[in-house]
Amino acid sequence: MSIPRRIRHCRVCGTPVDYRVPPDDNRERALCPACGEIHYENPINVVGTLPVWGEQVLLCRRAIEPRYGFWTLPAGFLELGETSADGALRETDEEAGARVELEGLYTVIDVVRAGQIHLFYRARMRDTTLAPGPETLEARLFREDEIPWDEIAFRTVRQTLEHFFADRQRGEGYPLHEGAIA
Ligand SMILES: [Zn+2]
Repeated sequence: MSIPRRIRHCRVCGTPVDYRVPPDDNRERALCPACGEIHYENPINVVGTLPVWGEQVLLCRRAIEPRYGFWTLPAGFLELGETSADGALRETDEEAGARVELEGLYTVIDVVRAGQIHLFYRARMRDTTLAPGPETLEARLFREDEIPWDEIAFRTVRQTLEHFFADRQRGEGYPLHEGAIA
């Protein structure tokens, strides 16, 4: 499988890189012809929450590209130095200003073509105070029959919501769901 060639210049010395298979490796990597640095690239973690208040779930309308104006669950890139749970809480605070308690990892979805893994936690909102950040046009609560299904930003968000409403309907708990976006 071909990999996206995202690195153009060496992060150490700035020389344009070559994509070649290093000795003792079996994949093309970004190699610096000047200093010999090998730049490894691996999938990025996107972490978020599914905040719940009674019968309602919290969605945020994006104020940034991609998918400007579409609705999403609060989520973003995991930072170095934080756990996935910490990152999910931070993104929920930054994007919605919502105060939540995590109730367990709920979906793990590979987005292979984008080189990402999306992880969503179920979360219980402590109150309905919201303070959307600069990446969010508006944040609000939706009942299941109010969800704007045609305006959901990402397939991982759609899948997470679908699992949640199906599990809630079934009434037998909220098991972890694994999946992949082809
Ligand atoms: Zn270099």
